[in-house]
Amino acid sequence: MTGNVLWERDLPRNIGYAFDLKQGQSVRIRSQTIIDFVCFNRENLRERFDQARTKANQRKVFISTGDTLVSKLNNTMMTIVEDTFKDGHHDLQEGMCSRKRHELAAKRGMWEITYGRPLSEMPTHGCTENLGGILAPYGVALEDVPSPFNMFQHMIIHPDGELEHSKLRPKSPGAHVTLRAEMDLLVALSTCPDVTIGGSTGATLTVVA
Ligand SMILES: [Zn+2]
Repeated sequence: MTGNVLWERDLPRNIGYAFDLKQGQSVRIRSQTIIDFVCFNRENLRERFDQARTKANQRKVFISTGDTLVSKLNNTMMTIVEDTFKDGHHDLQEGMCSRKRHELAAKRGMWEITYGRPLSEMPTHGCTENLGGILAPYGVALEDVPSPFNMFQHMIIHPDGELEHSKLRPKSPGAHVTLRAEMDLLVALSTCPDVTIGGSTGATLTVVA
């Protein structure tokens, strides 16, 4: 990644974070946990990242270096300029984890089986609460947070259409993805509690001009 570093932040696991990114600036995200990533047109926060347009326009369900994030209004929002997660690929199928999602799994008796942990370790909140909370001051309602670009969430899609969660994640010290803003943006992300893997490692953001 080239350019002048404007700022850098270390983020703990299971929080939300939002920031402005000007057209032409880039953000590098280094992480070992899943990052639920969304962005909005800074001039019109109702224009947001769209999983469907991003997949349909590029005729693919996995995106990496050279690919773009596309808005619901079919504008290019960001370009992936670096991606060192070579062991796996990022997800564009899933939504966000949440307390409710965990409670539904527990109600079906699936939580402990799915995560291999006692119910007492169920997180009190997840990416839904993290992104909803961090975006509320911007006037973005929880219901309007788009399904994210789930970085470092290696998803296996079987030929019959079955989605399989994989435990594959970036190896220490974490892979990184760098995205360049193609318009002025509000960017928001959640460092997923990622109960499947556990641990406490968060992420590092670096923004360059
Ligand atoms: Zn999550």
